[in-house]
Amino acid sequence: MRWIIVSNRLPFSLNAAGEMVPSSGGLVTALSGVQTDAAQIWAGMAPTGLTEAAWAARPAAERQAYQPVFVNEALYDAYYNGMANDVFWPLFHYEGSLIRFEAANWAAYQAVNQQVAEAVAAIYQPGDVIWVHDFHLFLLPQLLRDLGVTGRIGFFLHIPFPSSELFRQLPVRQEILTGLLGADLIGFHDYAYLRHFCNTLLNVLDLDSNMLSLSWQGREVRLGVYPASIDVGHFQQEAATALTHTHYARYRAVKTYRHLILGVDRLDYSKGLGLKLQAFAQLLAQHPELRGQVSLLQLAVPTRQDVPAYQDLRAAFERQVGEINGAYSQPNYVPVQYMYTSVAFHELLALYQLADVLLVTSRRDGMNLVALEYIVSQAAENPGVVVLSEFTGASSMLSHALITNPWDIAQTAERLQQALEMPLAERQQRQQVMAAFLSQYTASDWAANFMRDLNLSHLPAAVQKTRQLKPSAALQQLGGDQQTPLLLFVDYDGTLVPICERPEDAVLPTASRGLLARILQQPNIELVVVSGRDAAFLQAQFGDLPVTLAAEHGATYYDPRRGEWQSQIWSQIDSWYPSAEAMMADYSRRVPGSHVERKQAAVAWHYRQSPPEFAHYQAHKLKEDLEVGLSNLPVTVISGKKVIEARAVEANKGYFVRNYLDQLAAPRRCVAIGDDTTDEDMMQALPPGSLTVKVGEGPSQARWRLAQTEVLPLLLQLAGLSAD
Ligand code: UDP
Repeated sequence: MRWIIVSNRLPFSLNAAGEMVPSSGGLVTALSGVQTDAAQIWAGMAPTGLTEAAWAARPAAERQAYQPVFVNEALYDAYYNGMANDVFWPLFHYEGSLIRFEAANWAAYQAVNQQVAEAVAAIYQPGDVIWVHDFHLFLLPQLLRDLGVTGRIGFFLHIPFPSSELFRQLPVRQEILTGLLGADLIGFHDYAYLRHFCNTLLNVLDLDSNMLSLSWQGREVRLGVYPASIDVGHFQQEAATALTHTHYARYRAVKTYRHLILGVDRLDYSKGLGLKLQAFAQLLAQHPELRGQVSLLQLAVPTRQDVPAYQDLRAAFERQVGEINGAYSQPNYVPVQYMYTSVAFHELLALYQLADVLLVTSRRDGMNLVALEYIVSQAAENPGVVVLSEFTGASSMLSHALITNPWDIAQTAERLQQALEMPLAERQQRQQVMAAFLSQYTASDWAANFMRDLNLSHLPAAVQKTRQLKPSAALQQLGGDQQTPLLLFVDYDGTLVPICERPEDAVLPTASRGLLARILQQPNIELVVVSGRDAAFLQAQFGDLPVTLAAEHGATYYDPRRGEWQSQIWSQIDSWYPSAEAMMADYSRRVPGSHVERKQAAVAWHYRQSPPEFAHYQAHKLKEDLEVGLSNLPVTVISGKKVIEARAVEANKGYFVRNYLDQLAAPRRCVAIGDDTTDEDMMQALPPGSLTVKVGEGPSQARWRLAQTEVLPLLLQLAGLSAD
């Protein structure tokens, strides 16, 4: 097995001499720390300056470790800047007004994703596991499936996932979601992002999930939360080096004020630098005693400098810095020190150690690793304090930071003051808790957790056990003596007939009825149709065929030899039916497009035609109301596909099958065939050695599986007839 890691850029660059220089990004570090024997291949865009010809001339060992994708410059610009940075980045960071969607850029995004998919598919070998990273490659999982990749595919999103209300604005919202759903595991930094994603699936694709997994096109897609972390050991080790200390001593010597508040951010609108300056200005305005005593050092790392929106942001930020400094500077004191640059690693560590407070005011931030780095770089005897925006993924992890709403300027100013005044014992206690947590949860743990779950995903044990059945081999698989009569329990919808959008359209075709008649003419064979449908519908489909019909999940059944329906219900239906019906009627008035179906031993609330998100919420509420309102009564409340149903306790396919078998004088060779979860009860009620068959995809206890179109051929084979 090999791991194929796919990200936008390959993790190396070329130096002036054309040599490969490995990058030291967070992902590389995280993956290098994972204990595994599996080889890693990295796929992504070729670094600047690398040509196809130059790559082909590289040593084989290098070529085996990387799969570069060579994309034409203009196409790359439209994909990377036009789509990823000008649409996904602002949209996923809630900056709706900055989104610039253009069809040509979308076409480029599709084309580059396709090119990457083809490059990955070209090296893919069965058994490989593929891990795709970030918003540049949303379409990759499904494109890989389209190219025949059947193995495990994981996807991790390194930025926030926005509220469905925002995501819905995206003209290509369906394409993004269906692209992603080609994966077996989709991971996020934070639970809130996962929640937004699940709501979005419901809203946009009308797809239900339980936050852990969902079923899509016959596959299970798992979902998970994996907050990123940092290489804690590396930070602690380097923070203690002489080089860091030299920088620290140099900065310390020129520090003329008492307190240092540090900000370390890329100069991006998501980082909320304007809000940070406002809060700092308010602190100085409200606390004259702090003027001359506290300084904010903001390291603003340049990013996307050629983009007008970022140039405007920088100009506005610098103006704001100028205003504060104009108002509060003193000889030998500058309130805001601003550096528009990145700094060397050990200088950054020295700044982390020098600062009394780290201030993070992101408007939205997938995680914010700077906060984690600051914590683990602190000296235990005199640690600083983190004031952290609640709109960062890190705020869920850093329980002992001072959390602030960056939009509430007064609150942030107050948190700053609290941080500056915090007694040593409290600072130590807060830092200790967070540092201890981080030392147990490093970047490698993050990667290893995701990789472990991805390895476990795909084909859960129950599905693996269920093997494909060839109708012609069915009789051999069925135990027992050939002379023993056959008893077939067969579900109706999704089994004898395909599922239809409108249930009334799912009638039994004449041809199928003819085949069933032939089967039933054979000696020693008995057919029982066990369905959730009501008696009248089943009677209309099977009419005078000599079939036993069990309606409403076995609440009532029709024995053709007796020519009458018999109820299986002995409990008091009246004790719960009117209340359930009244509750459902109330919900059908509240939820447009929903309706109540009244059956003999069940009442159901259907919401297939209703606005999905609202109806989904109301369905949860109704189920809870029913469970509370009808507790201790002989009723079962079930939530099915777009339906909530209250049924008499005896209306259960397993219960029906067990009773039916109990009444028989002689043994039978039993078969159960069904597609839905209610059919699992039926299969479990059969004696050992029976043939259990799951129709279609999805987990099942059945031993065998086949497609719906194979059900009639299977019945013919069991009856000893051929299909023609
Ligand atoms: N960083 C850096 N050089 C600098 C300042 C910061 O390399 O001069 C690093 C910092 O150590 C951190 C990363 O940039 O690892 C910023 O990550 P974060 O998650 O905080 O924000 P992002 O920039 O990814 O949105």
